[in-house]
Amino acid sequence: MSSTEADAFLIRAVQAGDAAAWREVIERYQGRLLSFARRRLAQRSEAEDLVQETFLGLMRSLPRYDASRSLETYLFAILRNKLNDFFRRRSKGQRQSLEALELEDAPAAWLQVDTPSDYVAREESRDAQRIALVDCLRRWAENCCAQARFQDLIVIEMLVVLGMRNKEVASDLELSETAVAGIKFRVLERWRQLTEAASVQHNWRESDLAATSSVAHIWREEGISCPKRSTLGRYLLGTLDQNWQTYVEFHADGAGCQRCLANLDDLRDEDARDDAQRQRFREQCFASSVGFLSHRPNDHAGD
Ligand SMILES: [Zn+2]
Repeated sequence: MSSTEADAFLIRAVQAGDAAAWREVIERYQGRLLSFARRRLAQRSEAEDLVQETFLGLMRSLPRYDASRSLETYLFAILRNKLNDFFRRRSKGQRQSLEALELEDAPAAWLQVDTPSDYVAREESRDAQRIALVDCLRRWAENCCAQARFQDLIVIEMLVVLGMRNKEVASDLELSETAVAGIKFRVLERWRQLTEAASVQHNWRESDLAATSSVAHIWREEGISCPKRSTLGRYLLGTLDQNWQTYVEFHADGAGCQRCLANLDDLRDEDARDDAQRQRFREQCFASSVGFLSHRPNDHAGD
């Protein structure tokens, strides 16, 4: 079973009210989430609070969660929202109550309840388009990896994630500017074909390859080109082939992917880990959220 399938299996079990599966979800993700929060917060206790709220946020949005989507992406999106709220509150110098933030748990519109149905329908179709677009981009990135076309991937990440100009990319990679422009042209053409085949309505333009574009936003949020956690593990062991090793190093350190850096931190400490502390934190997250298991919608008796 792949880790995506394992996640989907666990989530369905939690949706059905399985407390042991919920503990397992926390166990799987607490380390990388904590590492992610700790990269931005000085205090361990602040990071723990936000990770605990993240699990609570996941639990609350579970009745409408689509288990076929990436759980890791979803959890990092909730945590990112929590971090943004935290810094916003702190900069305002005022504390908002947790209740006031409840609606912000779900990072995507299709998860929000209590909105008029035509609004929901509109958001859902926009969301379906976004999901299809994400699938196309991800399929393209996976193909680049499978066919060892890492140069295309690195050029696109430099343009889209780092916001570099053709000239800068060319000089960094020792390519001609014409070669960079050629890669851009070819990649846009490929994306056009992929989205057309998937009936995604997107008018591809050169500006989609800029750091401020909606594609750049999706790229960062969905971790389009993030290697699998097992690949990151092999990167740390130095057992990847040279092309992969170079790409992962660029993606994590060069492009500064916070999600992969957090996974790497977590994998690095796996050996030196304090099991008692980890277990204590897992149980703390579990205790604060498990009560929501009994509020699931399919609990209605009598049918
Ligand atoms: Zn990444």
